Amino acid sequence: MSNLQNPPALNSPNPLGFWDDAIGALASELSPQQFKTWIQPLTLVSYDISERSLIVGAPNRFKLDWIKKTFSDRFQEMADLYFGHPVVLGFILSVDVAVAQTQVASAPQERFESQEVVPTTPDSTSTEEQAFEIEDHSKLNPNLTFETFVTGKANQLARAASIQVAHNPGTSYNPMFLYGGVGLGKTHLIHAIGNHLLKEKPSARIRYIHAEQYVSDVVRAYQQKAFDRFKRYYHSLDLLLIDDIQFFSGKSRTQEEFFYAFEALLSNKAQVIITSDTYPKEMAGIDDRLISRFDSGLTVAIEPPELEMRVAILMKKALSEGIPMSEDVAFFVAKHLRSNVRELEGALRKILAFVRFHGREVTIDVARIALKDLLSIQNRQISVENIQKAVADFYSIKVADMYSKKRPANIARPRQIAMFMAKELTQKSLPEIGELFGGRDHTTVLHAVRKIGDERSHDGQLNHEIHVIEQTLKS
Ligand code: ADP
Ligand code: MG
Repeated sequence: MSNLQNPPALNSPNPLGFWDDAIGALASELSPQQFKTWIQPLTLVSYDISERSLIVGAPNRFKLDWIKKTFSDRFQEMADLYFGHPVVLGFILSVDVAVAQTQVASAPQERFESQEVVPTTPDSTSTEEQAFEIEDHSKLNPNLTFETFVTGKANQLARAASIQVAHNPGTSYNPMFLYGGVGLGKTHLIHAIGNHLLKEKPSARIRYIHAEQYVSDVVRAYQQKAFDRFKRYYHSLDLLLIDDIQFFSGKSRTQEEFFYAFEALLSNKAQVIITSDTYPKEMAGIDDRLISRFDSGLTVAIEPPELEMRVAILMKKALSEGIPMSEDVAFFVAKHLRSNVRELEGALRKILAFVRFHGREVTIDVARIALKDLLSIQNRQISVENIQKAVADFYSIKVADMYSKKRPANIARPRQIAMFMAKELTQKSLPEIGELFGGRDHTTVLHAVRKIGDERSHDGQLNHEIHVIEQTLKS
C-alpha cells in the first residue's frame, strides 16, 4: 500500500497525505478482503483546499451507496482529524478508467485461486513492456519500530525474539513464526525488525509482503509467464517478512512457489519471518511440508494486552499525538476496552477528535462522552472474544487454544466452558459460536452447552468458577 512507502508528512496536512493516511488506517482496521472489495477501488477525485472540500470516487453505484452508508462517517472523522478543521466530504461515481481496468484484471485471479486452474495463455494485453514487474521497495512502514512498540507481559517474548532476530538475521531463529489474534501487534513487530535491519545495513534487500499480495503476485507471474523474474526477486532477498500466512490456505500453487522461495532463502542464510493467526500445526489448508518448515525455527506467540499494557499504550500514543492523557483516564478507557490494541487506537482517535473539536481537556468525563457509543456496546453485549480471553486467563491457558484443535482435557474443558458462556451471555447462534471457536461444528457447541449446563447445576465448584469469570467480564 502506498502509505507504507510514503508516510504522510504529519506536520503539513495535504489532501494526498490525508488520502494515504486514511487508506492506511482502513487497511489496518478492515479485513484484507473487505479492504480490497470496498476501499481499494476508491479514488480521490478532487480536492479544493480553500473550499475545504474533498471528493471521493467509487467505481459503481452499488459500491458508492455502500461506501456512503458504511464509511462516510469514518472518512469524515478522519478528514476532520487530519486537517484539524471540518471538511466537506463528497462521494461520487468515478469514471476512472484505471479503476475499471484493475477490476477486470482481478477477475481471472479469483477464478484461478478458487479452482486452482492455471491459465495457459498469457493475457492478450501482456507484451514485453508490460511484463511482470515487482516493485523494488521494502514496503516497510517507517513508523512501526521497536521504539514505538509498548512492551508488557503479553508481548515481551515476541519482542525479545524479534530484537534477537533483528540483530542476527539468518542465524539462530530461522524462520521466526509469530502468531496471535488480530490487532495484537504482529504486523507492527515485523516491520520493526525490517526497519531495524534497514538502519543497520541500508544495502540489505528487505521485503515486507502481505500473504494475500504474494498470492496475487504468483498469479500475475503465471499469467505473464514471468516466473523467472519472480523467482529471482524473491530468492535473492536478505529478509522476507510475510504477513498473515493463513491466507495461503487452500492455494496450493502459491504454497508450492513459496516452498521453493523458502528453501532457497534458508539455504542462502537469508532470514524469513512469518506471521499467522494461529500456530503452525493448527493451520488449516496448508501443506504439511510447509507446516513442518514453519515449525522448524522459532515459534512465538503474542497475547492480548493486559490492563497495565493497555494503559501504557494509550498514554504513549496520546502523548505522541501531542495531547497527554493522565493515568486515571487511561485506566478508565483500558478497563472498558480489552480485546486488542487496534481497538484502543480507535478509542483514542475518538477521544482526541472530540478534544480537538471542543477544545476540552482529556478527562474521564470527556472520555465517557467521546466513547459513548463504544462503551454502551461493550456494556450491553459481552463479546465471544472477551469470553474466550477471560476463560483462558482464568484457567491459565492460551487464548489461541480456544480455536485450536488440540484436545487434552486441560484445554478441552475450559473451551467447553467458554462455549457455554458464549451461548449464555451473547446473542450468537450455535453455528456462529462454532465459527468463532476455530470453525467448529454447531453440534460440538451444542454438546458443550448441554454438558456444562448440566454439570453446573450440581457442581458447586464449577458454578462458582463460571460466576467469577462472569463478574470479570461485567466489571
Ligand atoms: P496485527 O498485525 O497483530 O493484527 P498490528 O500490528 O496491525 O496487529 O497492530 C494494530 C495496531 O496496534 C497498529 O496500529 C499497531 O501499531 C498498534 N500496536 C499493536 N501492538 C502495539 C504495541 N505493543 N505498542 C504500540 N502499538 C501497538
Ligand atoms: Mg497484521
